[in-house]
Amino acid sequence: MSHNCTHALIRCMDFRLQKAIDQWLADKNLPGDCDMISVAGAGKDIVANPDGFVATQVDLSCKLHETKIILLMHHTDCGAYGGHTAFPSLEDERAQHLGDMAKTEEIIKSKHPEVEVKKILAVMNDDGSIIVEEV
Ligand SMILES: [Zn+2]
Repeated sequence: MSHNCTHALIRCMDFRLQKAIDQWLADKNLPGDCDMISVAGAGKDIVANPDGFVATQVDLSCKLHETKIILLMHHTDCGAYGGHTAFPSLEDERAQHLGDMAKTEEIIKSKHPEVEVKKILAVMNDDGSIIVEEV
C-alpha cells in the first residue's frame, strides 16, 4: 500500500505556534498531506547533530513517504534559543534563525538532493499575534 505525502514540516514544539501553523497549513491546503516533525528549536538540533534524531525523522519522511518538500519553520522568541532576551536586537535574533535555517537546509540537501527546502520564519509579536513568512 502506498501512502505518500508531498511535504514534511519541521517546527518547534512551542504551543503558541499551533493556531498559526494550523491556519498556515490550511491556507496552503496541506492538512492530510504533510508529515509533522515537532521538536524544540526545530532545525537547531539538525545543525548540532546532523545525524541525530531530528535529522533521522527527515530521512524517514523522505524514505517512507517520498516527501518532496521540506518546510523548515523557525520562530522568534524560541525558548530553545533563549527567547528574545538572548539577543541584543530583533535583527540579531532574526539573523541567528536565518543562519541556522540555511545550515539546516544545506545538511538536508546534502542527504536528499531531490527535495526542495522552504524556509519559514514565524515572527512572534508582543501583542501575541504571529506573522508566518517564507524567507
Ligand atoms: Zn521554539
